[in-house]
Amino acid sequence: MKFIETRGNDGVHSSEVTFSEAILSPIASFGGLYVPKELPTLGEAFLTRHLDSSYKTLAKDLLTTLQIDIDESVMDEALALYDGFDDPSNPVPVVKVLEDLYVSELYHGPTRAFKDMALQPFGVLLSSIAQKRNQEYLILAATSGDTGPAALETFKNRPNVRVACLYPNGGTSDVQRLQMVTEDAPNLKVIGIHGDFDDAQRALKHLLGSESFKSTLKAKNIALSAANSVNFGRIIFQIIYHIHSYLELVRHNVITMGEKVYLDVPSGNFGNALGGYYAYQMGLPVEKIIIASNENNVLTRLINTGRYDLRNQQVVSTTSPAMDILVSSNVERILFDLFGDQRTKVLMEKLDKERCYALSDDETMRLQTLFSADYCNGDEGKAYIKEAYTQQGYLMDPHTATCFKAYDCCATQPLKTIVYSTAEWTKFSPTIAHALGGANNQSDSDALHTISQTAHIAIPAMIQGLFTKPITQATVIDKADIEQEILAFL
Ligand SMILES: *Cc1c(COP(=O)(O)O)cnc(C)c1O
Repeated sequence: MKFIETRGNDGVHSSEVTFSEAILSPIASFGGLYVPKELPTLGEAFLTRHLDSSYKTLAKDLLTTLQIDIDESVMDEALALYDGFDDPSNPVPVVKVLEDLYVSELYHGPTRAFKDMALQPFGVLLSSIAQKRNQEYLILAATSGDTGPAALETFKNRPNVRVACLYPNGGTSDVQRLQMVTEDAPNLKVIGIHGDFDDAQRALKHLLGSESFKSTLKAKNIALSAANSVNFGRIIFQIIYHIHSYLELVRHNVITMGEKVYLDVPSGNFGNALGGYYAYQMGLPVEKIIIASNENNVLTRLINTGRYDLRNQQVVSTTSPAMDILVSSNVERILFDLFGDQRTKVLMEKLDKERCYALSDDETMRLQTLFSADYCNGDEGKAYIKEAYTQQGYLMDPHTATCFKAYDCCATQPLKTIVYSTAEWTKFSPTIAHALGGANNQSDSDALHTISQTAHIAIPAMIQGLFTKPITQATVIDKADIEQEILAFL
C-alpha cells in the first residue's frame, strides 16, 4: 500500500511514500497528513473467513491484505503483544450492557487505557524500522495522561529508540503520573514541568521545529520523531478492533452477517473513529459512526452544522480529559476522503488562519450520511455511570459514558450499537466514585477504595502496586530547562 497526501504535493516531498516512510516522517506537503492511496475491499467473504479466527489471526490477515512494507516476522512480533492483555485469546471483549447496546472494551492492555491497542504493536514496528535503517531515534511525547504511560510502556528497552516524555506536574491523575514516574528503563526519560498541558505541548512543538536542537541531535547521530495520534502506524491498528467487534456480535448470534450496526466512539483526536471509517470503507456493514464528545464539542458542531469554529473557543477541563481537545487532527483525513486534496488544503488553511471553516450544504450532507454526533456534560456523564452500575451492574469510565448519551440521541434505528470503552474504571476513579455516591474530589487512592467497596470489585494488582513502587523518574523542572535536560539524558 502506498500513501498520498491530504493537501496535495508541494514538489519537494515525494508524492507517494511507503508505510515505513509515513511512520518515520508523518508530516506531508503543506503540513498535511499521509493517507492510503487506495483501500482494498474486504467484503463479506473476508468477514466470513474470520468468524472463527483469533484476534491476532484477523489482524495479521488484515495487515497482509493492506500490503504494508513490514516483514512478516516483525508483524508477528508486534501482534504477539496482544498476548500480554488480560485474556490473550480475546484481548478485546465485547460485553452486552443494554438491550441493543454492546460495549467493546479497548482497555485490557498494560496501561489500562485504549492507547495500548495501537501503541503496543507500534513500538515494535518503529524499533524494527529504526534498526533496519541503522538509525537511532528520539521520540518526543507530551501527555495529559494516557499517551505517556502507553508510549513509555511500549518503547521501554527497545533497541534504537529513546523516549523523552513531558507531562504537566499536577495536571494528570495520580495513577497516570505514577505509571510514568515508576518506569525505569535506561532509554526512557520522564520530565514533569511546572505548567499545564498546553505548556508541555508548546515545548514539544518548539523542540520538533528547532533547527539547533535537531543539529545537536544529528551530531550525536540521533533523528527526531513523534508517536502522536496522526501517525498512520497507530491508525492501522485501530481498524482491526472495529472488524473484530462486529465479528464478536455475529459469533454470539446478536446480529446476522451483513446486518448493519452503529459504531459509537468517544472522540478526541479522531483516531479511533477514523479506524471505524476505514473499516466501513473496506466493507464493514455500518449504518452510522456516532461521534461522542464532552463539553469541548467542536466535533458535535462540525457534524451537525458543517462548521468547524474555534473562534472564541478555549479548551475547558472536563471529567473526560482525554477528549479535552479543540483541534481534532484526524478529521483532516475524512475531509480528504470525502472532498479531495485541493478542498482539504483550502479548509485546513482557513482553519489555521481564520480559526474557522464552513462546509457547503452539500458537503455537510455528505458528512452526515455516515456520521452523527452528540456531546455530554460532566453531570450527565455521572448520571449515566450511576445508571449503568445500579441497573446493569456495569462499571464504566467517564469517556465511555459520553457514548451512552450519544446513543440515546443518535441511534435512531432499531439496530445494534457498539460502544467503544476507552479506559478502565481505575484510570478515572474520582469521577466514578462520586457518580456512585461517594465524596467528590477524592484522591485516586481513596476513590479506588470507595469503588472497590461499593462495587465489590478488587483493585487490579498493577494499579494497587503503583502506590508502593519506587519512583525512578523524579525530574520536575521549568519549561526553560527542558532542552538541556533532554540533551543531558542523551
Ligand atoms: C485518547 C483517548 C480518547 C480519544 O481517542 P481519539 O482516538 O483521540 O479520538 C478517548 N478516551 C480515552 C480514555 C483516551 O485515552
